[in-house]
Amino acid sequence: MRERDGHQCTYTGPGDHRCTRRRGLHLHHIIPHALGGEDTVANLTVLCNMHNAYVATLDFGATHMARAIERSRAHRSRQRGTPKQVEEKQPPGV
Ligand SMILES: [Zn+2]
Repeated sequence: MRERDGHQCTYTGPGDHRCTRRRGLHLHHIIPHALGGEDTVANLTVLCNMHNAYVATLDFGATHMARAIERSRAHRSRQRGTPKQVEEKQPPGV
């Protein structure tokens, strides 16, 4: 795992400029747990603490959306209604 990523932050910014930090590295889930990400090598990467925090803020948006969708599904199954807001973005049955 860490051998593959070279004991180095794997974050690549604009212009293919890869972060060169080798300290404070964290394992990062490429697909967050909340979105069905698994603890597999394919879903893990190495990020420095700075980029780990940065990517986490990006993931938070996606995670927040996933939870909102889960909530709306639970709501729909309880109410058997059709929530108007969700239906526009998320077709029924998905
Ligand atoms: Zn970094």
